[in-house]
Amino acid sequence: MRAVDLIRKKRDSGEHSSEEIDFLIAGYTRGEIPDYQMAAWLMAVWLRGLNRSELAALTEAMLYSGAVVNLSDLPGKKVDKHSTGGVGDKTSLILAPIVAAGGLTVPMISGRGLGHTGGTLDKLESIPGFNVNLSLGEFRSVLRACGMALIGQTAEIAPADKKIYALRDATSTVENIGLICASIMSKKLAEGIDALVLDVKTGSGAFMKREEDSVRLAEVMVETGKRMGKKVVALITDMDQPLGRAAGHSTEVVECIEVLSGRGPADLRELSLELSAWMFFLGERTKTLDEGRRLAETMIASGQAKEKLMQGIRLQGGDEHVVDEPQRLPKARFRAEVASTSSGYITATNCEQFGIALAMLGGGREKKEDCIDHAVGLEFHKRIGDRVERSEPLTTIHYNNDAKLTEAKSLVAASYQIGDSAPTQKRPLVRRILGP
Ligand code: URA
Repeated sequence: MRAVDLIRKKRDSGEHSSEEIDFLIAGYTRGEIPDYQMAAWLMAVWLRGLNRSELAALTEAMLYSGAVVNLSDLPGKKVDKHSTGGVGDKTSLILAPIVAAGGLTVPMISGRGLGHTGGTLDKLESIPGFNVNLSLGEFRSVLRACGMALIGQTAEIAPADKKIYALRDATSTVENIGLICASIMSKKLAEGIDALVLDVKTGSGAFMKREEDSVRLAEVMVETGKRMGKKVVALITDMDQPLGRAAGHSTEVVECIEVLSGRGPADLRELSLELSAWMFFLGERTKTLDEGRRLAETMIASGQAKEKLMQGIRLQGGDEHVVDEPQRLPKARFRAEVASTSSGYITATNCEQFGIALAMLGGGREKKEDCIDHAVGLEFHKRIGDRVERSEPLTTIHYNNDAKLTEAKSLVAASYQIGDSAPTQKRPLVRRILGP
């Protein structure tokens, strides 16, 4: 078999056998197939798509590119959540401590920023000293000690996704249902979970802009998880505007600490409680969703979730004092306001453009080797439906380098649509629930 023939086959709309997919994934993981051939194959897949059996073969090839963790020696059910990605989408840092404090084990294998979306690993690395690169042995011992651990794919766990994910980010091959499903499900199925809650984003800041595409993505992920014997639910949630008030690594960590302290923006708090409730329910910690929600609220109100976050940070080598003293997190040197040029109501945002502006300021990668500036961020002052007056600030940009500031400012300004009246349509945060 030769990679070049398989690229041509997919380019010409052919269907791969599972042996062909195994050959590509194993060869790329071992370094025998170069980046340029994998990039060409990914683009062919992006253009031509994968059918259900190709998708199943790809997910399994990526899953078995490394070890599948067996956590059966740890007490209780193991539950995780994964989001398909958005702007300001930071719930992992809130859910893991809530759910671990509530008695379940949360083994989280997360990703880095992808396209215009932020990644949990990059956010965690804004905490001084935090180590996301634990070995499998270290991952297990952190889980045993505190019930939660957040790490990246390693040479041992889902190494194929680690390599392919970085390549997709730099080759514009992210927004594809098959590739997203295989990426997420391979690493989630490798982490030894019993149940999984999927947060499938929809709207202008999601990879899937149209709700019907998000639903299709949710369906294939739920089907893949169930086929592998896991309890899975998918919530289709709104990403037509950023989640919470902050986008950018350290600013998002601060917002998570706020929610765990019983404060924080209403939408972020609401989604965190909903997702935690599902985790408690699927993990059989509570008999009903309502009970799960109450347990999550108690974990926040009692301070146990915040304590758990501190313990988790300490065990992964980070400075746990950031929880009480967020000023220890990286802070940008400069600020710039983006003000409204008219008066009216915010009717819509092009949320993806916020993510692109943030990446331009150093908060994302253009090439896979790029380093992230954890301090840069966007602070949103207005949400869809809010009244705004001319010259009133819409967004504050926190930046360190002004090389692309003008471009970023115009992107942010152009992302707001302002009209004479507020939209009348209701904007539910959770649009649909599939698969329970
Ligand atoms: N999150 C992932 O882990 N992978 C994707 O492809 C998209 C979002």
